Amino acid sequence: MAGNWKMFKTSAETAAFFEKFLPLVAAAEHCEVLICPPYLSVATAVQAASGTRVRIGAQNLHWKNEGAFTGEVSAPMVRDSGCTHVLVGHSERRQFFGETDKSVNDKAAAALGAGLTPVICVGERLEQRQSGETEAVLTEQFQNGIGPLSPEQFGRILIAYEPVWAIGTGLVATPDQAADAHRAIRAQARARYGEAAAAGIRILYGGSVKPDNVKGLMAQPEIDGALVGGASLDPFSFASLVNF
Ligand code: PEP
Repeated sequence: MAGNWKMFKTSAETAAFFEKFLPLVAAAEHCEVLICPPYLSVATAVQAASGTRVRIGAQNLHWKNEGAFTGEVSAPMVRDSGCTHVLVGHSERRQFFGETDKSVNDKAAAALGAGLTPVICVGERLEQRQSGETEAVLTEQFQNGIGPLSPEQFGRILIAYEPVWAIGTGLVATPDQAADAHRAIRAQARARYGEAAAAGIRILYGGSVKPDNVKGLMAQPEIDGALVGGASLDPFSFASLVNF
């Protein structure tokens, strides 16, 4: 169960979140819990979560290990900060910061090279779904963004299916729509990496997951977890998602 805080929460707000959140999930051993704060709150989050099962991730990284890239942060730096995971190719990065399947693949490889687990995000826009292109979009994103990874690398990633029309909109994919998309992604994984790898890959659903819709989504065997934006900002609502 992963939370993406986007550009929300200062260090003080991060500390306050963990103070309330950690006791609420102390007994939760059925799933891994990941929180991705903004870079500048990572140190506070890592310190607050130390000694617990909660893992901390970054929301982005650069594909080079170092260099003249003002404003950027590299995979070794993310790892050094205490993160175990990093989001790659979130639709907001694709939409507002020009990320492409090629940069997604480069960033995923950089993350893996530094020992991080990339959570690689894919998903179709509304007009693509409406014109029946969902599977084609997912196929292209998989083949160009994920497919160049080696089988060994593929074994160390997580995938998040996030239909763009459901992110931050309150519109949630139905459990059947999400499961269909997950099946399409798994079919790509099977074709490229084989049956065992496809069965083993964990695919999270993201897009307006809330305490009142999480059960229906998680009841789908195809859905292995959730990537949560808005509802991860409140300790009580994210704890109720973890404890679904
Ligand atoms: C996200 O940011 O990845 C996301 C799914 O946001 P929300 O849950 O707010 O739709």
